[in-house]
Amino acid sequence: RASDFDEVNLGYSEDDALAEAARCLQCRNATCIEGCPVQIDIKSFIARITAGDHRGGVEVIKQRNALPSVCGRVCPQETQCEAACVLAKKGQPVAIGWLERFLGDRDIACDLEHRCLPEVGEDSGFRCAVVGSGPAGLACAGELRRLGHGVTVFESLHAPGGVLSYGIPEFRLPARIVAAEVGMLEAAGVEIRCDSVVGATYTLDDLRAEGFDAVFYGVGAGLPVFLGVPGENLNGVYSANEFLTRVNLMRAHEFPHSDTPVWRGRRVVVVGGGNVAMDAARTALRLGAEEVVLAYRRTEAEMPARVEEVEHAKQEGVRFELLCSPVEVRGHDGWVTGFVAQRMELGEPDESGRRAPVCVLGSDFEIECDTVIPAVGTRAHPLLKAAAPGVELTARGYVAADEDGATSLPGVYAGGDIVTGAATVILAMGAGKKAARAMDDRLRSPDSAVESGDVR
Ligand code: FAD
Ligand code: SF4
Repeated sequence: RASDFDEVNLGYSEDDALAEAARCLQCRNATCIEGCPVQIDIKSFIARITAGDHRGGVEVIKQRNALPSVCGRVCPQETQCEAACVLAKKGQPVAIGWLERFLGDRDIACDLEHRCLPEVGEDSGFRCAVVGSGPAGLACAGELRRLGHGVTVFESLHAPGGVLSYGIPEFRLPARIVAAEVGMLEAAGVEIRCDSVVGATYTLDDLRAEGFDAVFYGVGAGLPVFLGVPGENLNGVYSANEFLTRVNLMRAHEFPHSDTPVWRGRRVVVVGGGNVAMDAARTALRLGAEEVVLAYRRTEAEMPARVEEVEHAKQEGVRFELLCSPVEVRGHDGWVTGFVAQRMELGEPDESGRRAPVCVLGSDFEIECDTVIPAVGTRAHPLLKAAAPGVELTARGYVAADEDGATSLPGVYAGGDIVTGAATVILAMGAGKKAARAMDDRLRSPDSAVESGDVR
């Protein structure tokens, strides 16, 4: 399977889903719901599966989450709802994520007219602009529509979905699934304008002039962080973001049938231990690499990637080089020839609660390679200042927003990675939804006077 981009996890058949749903105890105190960041009524949707009422199950999920097929595939359920399931204490929790995916996929398989479309409230007369079509923007747009507002989403790339489209690979989250779930929002009346960079194609003033009454920024934090070691400018060094975007969004693996090429490394080192690192390593394998080494500075126990992704990467042949930290990228004639790292050992826990890696002096070693892919994090893009002029930023360049997503500019809200820093799909969706409710309150409030500098 490591030689094609077909989806790896094939999901449940009807019999599998029924058998798994039958394991649910239908607890009086359903702790799983508390473990879900958007409080889906998990117990009820599982009961609908047992009763054979798939449509009813999807309706239960969609009251809280417009993207069940996406979240069923990529949410870290093992640290959220499934960790809180009472059966987790006895061994194996109910596979809530896979059941959610089962229902979402059933819905997508229907014709559009038979799908469970998001609810649309009575027309409020207000119009809202959403900047960015990642999980935060999509969740905000869906909720604003449910509350009866007109919504236009502005997306700088040529396809909607944010990281769901440009970051997470096809073998984990097929593009057709993202397109189908985004399509349902469009069918509910959300307008999406792609190729529209707010801060360049449109300014905030243009949005005001177009008559938008409130604005939500869900622009993500997609600026890659590099290693900061000598040799990083050599040919053959790709940020994981660029590498994954070329393949996922621009379909570089199909070049020359697509317009965008990608350098196909023979021996590849990926640096990092999160989902992004696993995705880059598994993508490099699928592009034909003979060897892919994943270099991570702590041990497997501290890896932030989902357990399923770590297992799949190992099964497919990614070699893990643990407890090592980058020192230098070596090259010849401008091209990468090796990756030098230093051995680490674990010391005392740091502020993240994980044991901090400490370098072992004189332990440098070299891995021969022609490609190095840093996947060590992302941060806010400095272009944000042009996209959201006048909005207060934090010292680290993220948007300063309160619990409801309100920024320093009245009528302007923000949520997702651009507020929290790189997090998860469901947390971004939760933030988008919460901000939509705060925007609604503000728009409908009789005290919401038109202030100077206000978007309204
Ligand atoms: P994004 O998804 O980054 O979306 C922001 C959107 O805004 C983008 O489409 C961008 O093009 C657009 N934009 C930016 N600036 C402008 C502008 N000026 N004008 C118009 N549009 C603009 N999380 C999980 O829960 N599970 C996973 O398995 C997982 N895997 C991941 C794998 C990868 C490779 C990556 C990169 C991340 C992964 N994450 C995962 C994290 C998760 O995807 C993010 O936390 C989430 O997508 C953040 O959502 P967002 O809407 O805030 O931002
Ligand atoms: Fe079912 Fe587990 Fe939730 Fe109980 S906690 S209702 S067993 S999913």
